[in-house]
Formats: sequence, structure tokens, C-alpha cells
Amino acid sequence: MTNHALFQRALPLIPGGVNSPVRAFKSVGGEPFFTARADRAYLWDVEGKRYIDYVGSWGPMVVGHNHPHVRAAVERAIQNGLSFGTPCPAEVAMAETIVRLVPSIDMVRMVNSGTEATMSAIRLARGATGRTKIVKFEGCYHGHGDSFLVKAGSGALTFGVPTSPGVPKANADLTLTLPYNDFQAAQALFAEHGSDIAGLIIEPVAGNMNCIAPKEGYLQGLRELCTRHGTLLIFDEVMTGFRVALGGAQAHYGVTPDLTTFGKIIGGGMPVGAYGGRRDLMEQIAPAGPIYQAGTLSGNPVAMAAGLAMLELVQEPGFYDTLSARTRLLTDGLQAVADGEGIPFSTNRVGGMFGLFFTREKVGSYAQALAADTNMFNRFFHGMLERGVYLAPSAFEAGFLSSAHSDEDIAATLDAARGAMRLARE
Ligand code: PLP
Repeated sequence: MTNHALFQRALPLIPGGVNSPVRAFKSVGGEPFFTARADRAYLWDVEGKRYIDYVGSWGPMVVGHNHPHVRAAVERAIQNGLSFGTPCPAEVAMAETIVRLVPSIDMVRMVNSGTEATMSAIRLARGATGRTKIVKFEGCYHGHGDSFLVKAGSGALTFGVPTSPGVPKANADLTLTLPYNDFQAAQALFAEHGSDIAGLIIEPVAGNMNCIAPKEGYLQGLRELCTRHGTLLIFDEVMTGFRVALGGAQAHYGVTPDLTTFGKIIGGGMPVGAYGGRRDLMEQIAPAGPIYQAGTLSGNPVAMAAGLAMLELVQEPGFYDTLSARTRLLTDGLQAVADGEGIPFSTNRVGGMFGLFFTREKVGSYAQALAADTNMFNRFFHGMLERGVYLAPSAFEAGFLSSAHSDEDIAATLDAARGAMRLARE
């Protein structure tokens, strides 16, 4: 069956033919391909075409697809059953691993997605502080919980509905928004509303309005502001966790949040999320405390096995240095190709994540990301796709490298970019 035939079958059955919006290629045009299998840095579609993949299942596949160590752990786990509904040993091992690798976390609760993790974290922030308002940043995405679909990034931004219909106004009114990387705006907001704000949630490296790093001292400034106003600082590390450094962005920038959310990499490719933080806060979660949160499949033994195997691999010495160096090779290479063609282009990168922008400016804000040329990106995207390179199908998503991307894969990507950059300009 062809990609097109599968998409035609899917369209009347699944909204937009996909189970998550950005997969549909709506903003870049055309139709998505359907993946038959994935291995190392590659995806193969149902027609047998191979792509060098820089999406990595939207972040989790930091060691590449179908890694034998992760696969073997899953194969071992499934011999013993798929779900127990009782505590299991792998959950304890997972909690021990996260607590050991992330110093700000004393206790952790496993959930099934990043969305669940962030929803639970703000419930905890509200329950613990007795306050109702939360602060998020324009263009940041924290999953599809009602409180977060206010000036949101990722698919919400791609499809022009950053504040979604269906989110009650009363709910949206409790979410205050700020421009990312603008500390003065944060100071002004806290001066007015500080005593009402339960939690401030931020992607410490923004990855859902393309990729934007925090300005020097920005996260530290937010830390001090939150402390001063009794607001909990929540780092949403669903994307950055175990991606930009072993201890996440908080280790990379040396800033300690009160609560952290995880997803993606900690599941090794299985549906997993987690939230954790200071003991005095986490002990307020049921059944230790009164703030309710639960999950039928949370801490699933197969998912824990995959995640634990993944976390073993990323602890190998030099893992993040190599990942970061390869990412640099890619972004520097793309910059050189664009410069050679006289195309306005800039890149951002932190650890194993990167952003590509069709603009001459170094992008440090949501407004700048919006101002980059999306038509050029869309033509570049399709030029790369034709040449067997799969980038995220939206100008507002970060790209991801894995340890499986070889120097040859990067060289092949740059070769493809030489042709695709010319298309971008036309
Ligand atoms: N938070 C961030 C920073 C994300 O990037 C995402 C997903 O891309 C989420 C939360 C939501 O995670 P999930 O899609 O697993 O619900």
C-alpha cells in the first residue's frame, strides 16, 4: 500500500488522518509518509524509501531508533506480562535513577505522557500554594491541558490556534502569559500579580516555537523572582530532559527548579511522563497527601524497562559531548551551505536539539521566530524530504539529533541541503 493510499484510508477515520496534528504536514503542504520501520538514524516508509530522521519521534529517540539495548530490555520485560496494576520493581529503579541523575528531585511520580506530567505539576503547585494563577510563556508548549492552550507553541502555533476553542474562558483567565527571554516583562507581571501566582512553568530551552535558548542569566532571574514571590518554579523538561545534558537544562544552566516535568526520553520510545521535585511538595500527592493524581497504566513495567535501558545508555561517558559536537557539525554545516547560496539563515542549538530559521537574525524571541520566512522553510523542508532527509514538518519545531547519526549521515544531509537551499530561494 502507498503512503497516499494509507492517508486516504485514514482521513475519513481519524481527524486529519493523524493522531497528533503536526504529523499531518498541513503547514508545509503535501501529505505525510507512513513509516513501516525505523532503525538507528533512519525511517523507512511503506514504499521502501529511507529518510535520515531529525525528528526522532519528536525527541525520545536520543540513542537512535530500535536500539538493541532498549529492544532487549523490552523483550525481557514482556516475558513477564504487560501490566500488573500493582507496584513493580522497575518503578523503584526508575525513581532511583531519576532522583540520582537530577539533584532537584527528591521524589518522583510516573505518568503516561508529558501532558499528564505538566497538568499534574500545576495541580500540585496550586494545591501547595493555595493560589490559582499560573504563568506560561508565549510559544511554549506544555501539552494539551486546558491551562496550557493559551498562546501555546508546537501544533497550536503551527495551525494558528495558539489559544484553542474549547478552553473555558474562566480557565484561560487563570493562565498569565509572558514573552520568553524578556525579564523586565516578568518583573512587571510579578509586581502586579505575584501573590496570586501558584507556579511559573517554562521550557528552559524553548523547543516548541522552533528552538530558542534562554538568555544568559534569564533562568536565574526567574528563579529569584519566583522565590521572592512564593511562586513555584516549574521546569518543563519533557523535551530538554536527558537531551541537552544528563541532568537536563537545569544541570546545563545551573538553575534549581521546585518541580520538574519529564517525558519523551525517559520512556525510551514508550508512552511515559513523570513529575518530581522537592520532598515537601511531592509528599502532598495522594496517597501520601491530599492532592489527587492517579493512572491505570502509570509505571507500566514494559515502559519502565525501555526507559531504564535508555537512561543507562545516556550515562555512558562522553555521550552528551559527542551528541553536542555532532549537532554543531550539522548546524555549522547548514549555515555554511546557506551562506554559500547567499540565503538568509541562522541556527540555534543546545546539546542534542537545534533550530533552523530562514532569517539573518540570531533568533532569541518568539517574535523573531514568527518573523522568519516560513515559505522558505516549507520549500526547504520538501527539498530535503525529496532527498531523503526528514525534518520536523513545521517551521515552529525543534530538530533532534541522536547518537546514531554518524558523520556520514550528516555529510549526506549537507549534500541534500545544497539542493534544497536553492529550492528554498525560488
Ligand atoms: N512539554 C513539552 C516541552 C513538550 O515538548 C511536549 C510535547 O511535545 C509536552 C509537554 C507534551 O508531551 P506529550 O506529547 O507526551 O503529552
